[in-house]
Amino acid sequence: MISLFVELTLTLAPQRLLGLLAHPALHDALGRERLNAVGAWINNVFMLPWRQRRARLSPRDADMRAYLRTHFCARPFHTVETTHTGLAFVCCPVWLPKPIGALSGDPQALWNSAAAREIRESIVDGSFRHCDHRTCPLIASRALPPRASAQAQQMIAQHRSGAPAPSPKYVVLSHDKSCNLACPSCRSGLYLANKAQQARLDALMESAILPLLRHAEEVVITGSGDAFGSNHFRNVIKRITAGEYPGLKIHLHTNGQLLDARAWRDLSLEGHVGGVQISIDAARAATYAIVRRPGNFARLLENLAFVKTLRQRGAISHLHFSMVVQTANFREMPEFVRLAADHRADLVSFNMIRQRDVFSRDEFARAFIGSPDHPEHLEFLAVLTAPELKASIVDWGNMDAFTPAGRAREDGERLTA
Ligand code: SF4
Ligand code: SF4
Repeated sequence: MISLFVELTLTLAPQRLLGLLAHPALHDALGRERLNAVGAWINNVFMLPWRQRRARLSPRDADMRAYLRTHFCARPFHTVETTHTGLAFVCCPVWLPKPIGALSGDPQALWNSAAAREIRESIVDGSFRHCDHRTCPLIASRALPPRASAQAQQMIAQHRSGAPAPSPKYVVLSHDKSCNLACPSCRSGLYLANKAQQARLDALMESAILPLLRHAEEVVITGSGDAFGSNHFRNVIKRITAGEYPGLKIHLHTNGQLLDARAWRDLSLEGHVGGVQISIDAARAATYAIVRRPGNFARLLENLAFVKTLRQRGAISHLHFSMVVQTANFREMPEFVRLAADHRADLVSFNMIRQRDVFSRDEFARAFIGSPDHPEHLEFLAVLTAPELKASIVDWGNMDAFTPAGRAREDGERLTA
C-alpha cells in the first residue's frame, strides 16, 4: 500500500494528492489511520521542504535586509505551535516552515532542540533566514518591533548566554483536526478523530502538551479544528480548568456552534478564558448553510447572544468575529460588521480565501473574488467602500491591497517607482 502511495505522490503533485486524501470516500475505503499517516508523510516529506525552499528564496532586497537587521521578532523565543503531522514549530508553520522537532519526544529537549536554537539565532543575527518574507504579515507589513527595545535586548542576551530558553509563554494547539463542521474552504468532509486516535492524542496530552503548558500564560485552542468539536481538546480544556494551571488563560478559536451555556458550565470555563475568536464567514442563514456546512445559523445566533453576555459581564476580555472572504459571502461584509458590533465584538477580521489542498484549480478560481479576472471582482471592490467597513473594529488581515486605501497606496508607490 505504501509503495502505491509513493508512486502516486511522485506522479501527482503532492498538493493535489493531499486534496484527494481528504475525500471522505477514500477514508471509508482505506481507513482513516492509514490515510492520516500517508497525509502526514506527504506533508513532512514533500510540502515542508517545498515551503522551506519558498522561504529561503523569498525576496530580500537591500532595503529589506537593512530593515530586518534593525528589528526583532520574539515569537521563536516564547511561542510553540503543535501540528497534526506530529511536528512542532515556533511560529505559524506557513510563515516559518522549519520544525523544531517531533512532539513525541521530550518537551524540554524539543523546546531547546538544535533546530529551535538555529531559528532563534537567525532572528538574533538579523537574517530571519527561516522566515517566509512573503507570507509573514509582520515582515510583509514591516510591523516588527525594533531590535533596540528592552524586550529584544533581554532575549538576545539570554540567547547568547547559551542557557536553555525559558519555557514557552504562548502555546498554539493545532494537533487535532476534529471539527463538527466541514466548511468547503477547509475540508471536503467531516473529520472527527476515532476512539483509537483520541486515545493517542490524550496520551500525547500527558507526555507533551501539559508539560509545554506548565509555565505558559496563554494557550490557543485551536488552530486546526474546533475547540468544542474535538473530544481531545475538550479533555485538554478540562485538565486546564481543573485547577493545576491558575495562571494560564485559554484563547478559544471556534465556529461557535457548540459554544453555549452548557459547554461553558460543563468545561468549567468561567475564569479561565481570555479571548474568544469565532469564525463565522456569513451574515445570512442561506450563505451560512453553504460556507459553514452543515452549521445551523439559528443556533449560531443563540450562541452569539450567550457569548455577548460573556463579553458584557467581563467573563472574556476579547471577542473576535472572523470571515474568510470569497465569492459566496463578499456582499455580506458590511452586514457582518454590524453583526459583530451588535454582539459587542472587539474585532472583526477579514481574510481573503487562499488556495488549499481541498480545492481544484477551477473551484478556487470560482471562489477567489480577489482575482481581477473574476466576473464579480468590480462589484467586490465596490462593496469594500461601504461605510460599515471603515469602523475601528475592522481588521483587514491579508486584504489590505484590495481596500480603497491599500489600492491608493499601491498606485502611489507605482507612480513614484
Ligand atoms: S518574523 Fe514572522 S515568520 Fe519570522 S518568527 Fe516572526 S512572525 Fe514568525
Ligand atoms: S469550522 Fe473551521 S476548522 Fe471546522 S471545518 Fe470550518 S473552517 Fe475548518
